[in-house]
Amino acid sequence: MDERMEVFLELYRKQPSEEIRDLEERAKRDQVPIIRRGTRDLIGYLLRTNKPKQVLEVGTAVGYSALYMLENLPENSGITTVEKVPMRLTEAKKNFARLDPEGRINLREGDATEVLKDLVEEGKKFDFIFMDAAKGQYLNFLPNVLELLEEGGLLVTDNILHEGDILESRYAVTRRDRTIHSRMRDYLKALTDHPKLETICLPLGDGMTLSRKMED
Ligand code: SAH
Ligand code: MG
Repeated sequence: MDERMEVFLELYRKQPSEEIRDLEERAKRDQVPIIRRGTRDLIGYLLRTNKPKQVLEVGTAVGYSALYMLENLPENSGITTVEKVPMRLTEAKKNFARLDPEGRINLREGDATEVLKDLVEEGKKFDFIFMDAAKGQYLNFLPNVLELLEEGGLLVTDNILHEGDILESRYAVTRRDRTIHSRMRDYLKALTDHPKLETICLPLGDGMTLSRKMED
């Protein structure tokens, strides 16, 4: 975005706590891929206005977005978040121990493919789901994610534009990215065609979708 626009919008941005800003700085320094500010602000807004009871996040990294979401939820709401990389898990646990002493964030360790299946089997339901893990796997996660999402609930997906790479000619990107991009296109098609979902694609941050699961 135009730098002057950024500066202008910054004037009216609801600032997160000092702890969150500190985590943001550290994540950037350590090159941990965290949600961008615009994405973060929209998520915060959606949480403050929708007040979901149970939030599910796929892709914890070091817990930055989970802790930010916690700040924007009512006191009796909880978060379940899934991560599989040991180094990230170690960091996330440290951050949760320090900044979520009441243990309102439930960290589920393991591959989301398995964890989502387990959550379905446990009969868990969520009224807000934030999808922010390996982009190439979103489509595989979708059936279980939709099973876990309550009617009236919201599914938010991050990184649908892959830094704009998704628009590149298929000859200009690596084979791996080509696969990711075609899967992302399939995922977006699945979201926008789904009879029970009302979806909007936004260019905010790295591109995101909002999908409301409609009641019959
Ligand atoms: N939501 C975080 C950033 C997540 S980055 C934030 O904004 O603070 C994406 C994370 O998803 C990475 O840490 C990666 O290890 C994790 N991930 C990717 N694929 C996964 C999978 N299949 N199961 C669990 N975690 C996965
Ligand atoms: Mg992301």
